[in-house]
Amino acid sequence: MIELSDAKDIILQQVIKKSPEEVSILDSLNHVLAEDIFADRDYPPFNRATMDGFALQSKNYSENRDYKIIDTVFAGDSFDKPLSDSECVKIMTGAAVPDGLDAVIRIEDSQISGSTVRFSVSELKSGKNVAQRGEDCKAGVKLLNKDYLIKSTSISLLATVGCEMLKVYPSPTVSLITTGNEIIPLDQHPGPHQIRNSNSYAIKALLKDIGIKPSYENHVSDNIELLRDSLSRGLHSDILIITGGVSMGDSDHVPGTLSALGVEKLFHKVKIKPGKPIWFGVKEKTAVFALPGNPMSCQICFKVFIEPYIRGLKGIAAHDNPFLPLSQERQNRTGRNDCFPVQIEKANSFMTTLDYNGSGDIKGNLHSDGFAIQPHDLITVSKGELLEYIPWRAYD
Ligand code: AMP
Ligand code: MG
Repeated sequence: MIELSDAKDIILQQVIKKSPEEVSILDSLNHVLAEDIFADRDYPPFNRATMDGFALQSKNYSENRDYKIIDTVFAGDSFDKPLSDSECVKIMTGAAVPDGLDAVIRIEDSQISGSTVRFSVSELKSGKNVAQRGEDCKAGVKLLNKDYLIKSTSISLLATVGCEMLKVYPSPTVSLITTGNEIIPLDQHPGPHQIRNSNSYAIKALLKDIGIKPSYENHVSDNIELLRDSLSRGLHSDILIITGGVSMGDSDHVPGTLSALGVEKLFHKVKIKPGKPIWFGVKEKTAVFALPGNPMSCQICFKVFIEPYIRGLKGIAAHDNPFLPLSQERQNRTGRNDCFPVQIEKANSFMTTLDYNGSGDIKGNLHSDGFAIQPHDLITVSKGELLEYIPWRAYD
């Protein structure tokens, strides 16, 4: 049984970033950029009216003056007639302020009478209600660096500068194989000794949260030949995830079959609770994670071991999980790094522990935001002491 930190290091040592691929703008969400992004022109690209009103020259402006309304300029219009300082145009928000005019007076401060207008504004500064060309950024400025993680809030900018397609590090391909004689699909009625295949859905949901759909999935009974056939198919992916059959029981054929298929074991059993029997190995470009079958073990192992590996392949910089205070004293006499579900208190970010009935609890994580890890050598954690926190959601 190896230390949790050693196991995580071994996994991350196997990370080789995938080669960049070109994807469409929306498919780039939650991927890391493999190219720098520059402003293709000045932004705003023209002096832009920020209010509905009248555009005029601020020079020689006077409150007690009638201005002749020459035309109306809408957003998208191009107006290039020169105006004198006693003339103005009606202008709409978002329209280009005509050359030679440098200020906009709001419609609310205007009194129109026929083809002239007066303004109830005592002084007018140049640039009033006008966003200047290039004030957000100049053409050619670097807006996003390579290695930037694209979020939903980045999409508007990418669209603005015309990035319909962009280079990102793609997601790995994943195969998912569940095992167990007792496991049946959801469309079958379970006999008294049978269990529905929740792991398949749990892992697919966690994968979906990071934008991955398995390219191959299968369920196999605890039969070495069937297992070998399915595992060899799964070895075509970048990542092969297996659940169940990894402990010491007589039907736990996964480690032996993986070894027989030439997968090099890098560790088996980690000082973690739940999830101790986890097995990890590699064959060429494929990383193989064999998780214990209990629902809590399998979900916690995914978050602790598999998700950081996927993030690495996608080029997402490794990050330290936050450490948050615990709302009550807690003991850990398991001798292992004890993972337990917690709820985050909105007011102060304290973690409240939730009761759960061990690794096989079908509803152990139901009301939790994530889980905390109490180290094996920290037998008592006091109220307010900090523990590592892992949120269930991938991009929190
Ligand atoms: P195993 O790791 O195969 O020894 O399984 C440990 C426990 O997890 C057993 O009680 C199994 O019935 C249960 N289990 C295994 N695989 C699944 C699955 N795909 N869905 C739900 N429970 C499972
Ligand atoms: Mg089993």
